[in-house]
Amino acid sequence: MNVYDSARMADVLAPLGYGLTDDPSDADMVILNTCHIREKASEKVFSELGRLRRMREDREARGAGRMILGVAGCVAQAEGDHILDRAPFVDLVLGPQAYHRLPEMVARLSRAGDAQIDTEFPAEPKFDHLPAPGARGPAAFLAIQEGCDRFCTFCVVPYTRGAEYSRPVTDILDEARALVARGTLEITLLGQNVNAYHGAGPDGATWSLGRLIRALADIDGLARLRYTTSHPRDVDDDLIAAHAEVPTLMPFLHLPLQSGADRVLKAMNRGHTLADFRRVVARLRDARPDLALSSDFIVGFPGETDREFQDTLDAVDDIGFIQAYSFKYSARPGTPAAALPAQVPEPVKAERLARLQDLLNAQQVAFNRRCEGLDMDVLLDRIGKHPGQLVGRSPFMQPVHVMAPAPLQGTIQRVRIDQGQPNSLAGRLLPAEDDHPPAERATA
Ligand code: SAH
Ligand code: SF4
Repeated sequence: MNVYDSARMADVLAPLGYGLTDDPSDADMVILNTCHIREKASEKVFSELGRLRRMREDREARGAGRMILGVAGCVAQAEGDHILDRAPFVDLVLGPQAYHRLPEMVARLSRAGDAQIDTEFPAEPKFDHLPAPGARGPAAFLAIQEGCDRFCTFCVVPYTRGAEYSRPVTDILDEARALVARGTLEITLLGQNVNAYHGAGPDGATWSLGRLIRALADIDGLARLRYTTSHPRDVDDDLIAAHAEVPTLMPFLHLPLQSGADRVLKAMNRGHTLADFRRVVARLRDARPDLALSSDFIVGFPGETDREFQDTLDAVDDIGFIQAYSFKYSARPGTPAAALPAQVPEPVKAERLARLQDLLNAQQVAFNRRCEGLDMDVLLDRIGKHPGQLVGRSPFMQPVHVMAPAPLQGTIQRVRIDQGQPNSLAGRLLPAEDDHPPAERATA
């Protein structure tokens, strides 16, 4: 979501004459788009700000002009003007719902000179004030939903991103068409709880995510669709049916489980049991037999026992994930779990995380190896490290390295997978004829 928001900030600033640069040391403006989800991400902001301040001083000493420094995103939302207490040299502080007002903030800054703060949740959603997206490349993000009403006891998102909001269907279809017109082949629909999507349709009805996916799949030139992050509780029949019926919906789904122990799931307020999760997965796999899963896990939630951690390992072992993110529980200010008495000691969390990650890595490597010998459609979206090499994404989001001529960047090609490596695949281009055998499918 932050990648999407950053690109939207660039869209908003483009009419003021700002463009993107890879080199912050010579930028007229640097905005740190921040994450508050865990303490580590939050703390990084202040060390980065120190580094940028030195860059700004060097730039000004060279006579290259002033650098505007901004902090956007959820740390800005959560900490507001405390950011200015710790880093008084910052010019702009703006929350995730305020970035459409960046031009005003920049104008006020240049008039008044003093720092500008905007962490309001505006009555009108920012999406109503954003311009059409610029070119994003072959694979792009599109936010369809924002905020969260679920209040998991460990999570800051409901406080920093606010209440759930679903964008109207027509806005989303327009943005998707604009992306496809500028060369995008794959769109990932985004939301903090994306499958809670319930947007106003052009027919006056409330549309579900499944219905929206079907409408998007009708856009000519849009080859692939994905969505993230979904909550197991909000996977409805219509969405499951979309996995069976919409071929452009890719056979890869990120479905966070967090823990394999029912007591912990309850204490987290996830609203489902392990058995519920398994049922959802079974139904999705019935609908789309080649569906592969990734997930999120938290180890060391307050009160988690060795036995409960073992339940998580057993669930992973049993369900099988081809990729995952796992984290040590991080107590976040203002969340209910942070006040629970039985916080798990750091060394215990570290040991559990290492064991869980060993298992998850083994599953990832095994899946990548099972892909050897398969033919896959690969979206070649970037230049590789070696001359003559392009890198793309498999249907299962694995990076795929291929020797391919540069003009094939931004196209989908048939690739024979020769090698499954720990974090990626390597393969070779197959001839462009369409007489090759039908897609073989890998199963997780
Ligand atoms: N909406 C998604 C998750 C969004 S946050 C869902 O409900 O699953 C992304 C991930 O960060 C979460 O899935 C969780 O695994 C992790 N996370 C969130 N808060 C955390 C915390 N306080 N400590 C450790 N990990 C956390
Ligand atoms: Fe956070 Fe996801 Fe729970 Fe919402 S559903 S509170 S975003 S973990």
